[in-house]
Amino acid sequence: MNWYPWLNNAYMKIIALHQKKQGHHALLLHANAGMGSDSLIYAISRWLMCQQPVVMKSCGDCHSCQLMLAGTHPDWHKIDTEKGKNTIGIEIIRCLTEVLVSHAQQGGAKVVWFPRVEALTEAASNALLKTLEEPTDNTYFFLESRYPDILLATLRSRCFYYYLSVPERKTTISWLQKQKITLSLVEIETGIKLNAGAPLAALTLLQPENWLKRKKFCQSLMQHLSTKRLLSWLPELDQEDAAGRISWLISLLLDTVKYQLQSSNYCVNRDQLLLITKLAAISSVSVLLKSATEWQNCRHQLMSVMGLNQELRLISQLINWQNSLYYHN
Ligand SMILES: [Zn+2]
Repeated sequence: MNWYPWLNNAYMKIIALHQKKQGHHALLLHANAGMGSDSLIYAISRWLMCQQPVVMKSCGDCHSCQLMLAGTHPDWHKIDTEKGKNTIGIEIIRCLTEVLVSHAQQGGAKVVWFPRVEALTEAASNALLKTLEEPTDNTYFFLESRYPDILLATLRSRCFYYYLSVPERKTTISWLQKQKITLSLVEIETGIKLNAGAPLAALTLLQPENWLKRKKFCQSLMQHLSTKRLLSWLPELDQEDAAGRISWLISLLLDTVKYQLQSSNYCVNRDQLLLITKLAAISSVSVLLKSATEWQNCRHQLMSVMGLNQELRLISQLINWQNSLYYHN
C-alpha cells in the first residue's frame, strides 16, 4: 500500500500512545475522502500485529508481517458493505463477535477495520457497541468515517476520536507537482480547494482527462448563460457523475456570493473569475444562496432517492434556476 508524507504525524502520534500502553482499543478516525486514511490504518495495524516491531516500524520479516503482506492474516478483519448493499447488518457483527471470542489464530493482536462505519444499521451499531464495551484481549478496532456526526452517540463515546487534518497547502502543492501535475499554480490550488484540501482527491481531479471535463463544464456554462438557454446545458449535468458536477456548480455559486461581497480572494474557483463575474451580473446574493440550496437538495435527492429520474429532476431544477436568474432578479 502506498504511503503519503502527510500521514507521518498521525502515525507517530498513535503509535507513540500504543508504545506507552495508552493506545485506545477503539479508534474513530474522521477523515475526508482522498486523504489516504486506508494507508494509515493499514500501517498502524501492521505495527500492532508485528511480532518484533523495530521502534515505530513493523519488521516486515516475522510470520505476522508476511501474512499481512500476503493479505491473508486470519486475525485481520476488514468489515465493509457487501456488493450491491449500502448497509452492514447485525448478522455480520454477530459473526465477527464469535470469531473475536476465540483465540487469535496467530497468537498476537486481532484487528478489525470498518472503512465506512456509518454503513452499520442501528441494530448492528448496538451490537458493535456491546463488543466495544467488553473487548476481547489484544483486540483493536478502527472505525473510519467521513461523517462521524451521524453515528450513534453511544458508539462515538466508546472510541478515541482522531481527526486526520489536511496537509498545509504548500505541502500538497509540492507533492502534486512531484506526481507530474504540470498545470498552473492557480489551477492546482483550485483542484485542492475543490476537494477540501485532500491531496489524493485533488490528484485525481487534476489528471488531464478529468481537468478537461471540468474546464468544458465551465466553458459550456458560460456559453449557456450568455445565450440565456440554460435548459440546453442539461447534457453537461446529466452524466454518470452528476452529483460531482452539481458540486462544481454549487461551488461556483458560492464563489459568486463571495465576489458580490468583495471577498473574491476566498474564491475556490480562482481559475474561473470570468464565469463568476458573469454569474454575478445576473444574480443577487439572495438568489445565489437560494439557488445553491436548491442545487444541494437536488444533489442529495439524486444520491439518496432510489429510482428517481435523474434527467427529469435536473430539468426541473434547471428551469427553477433559469427563472430565478432572468425574471425575478
Ligand atoms: Zn513483523
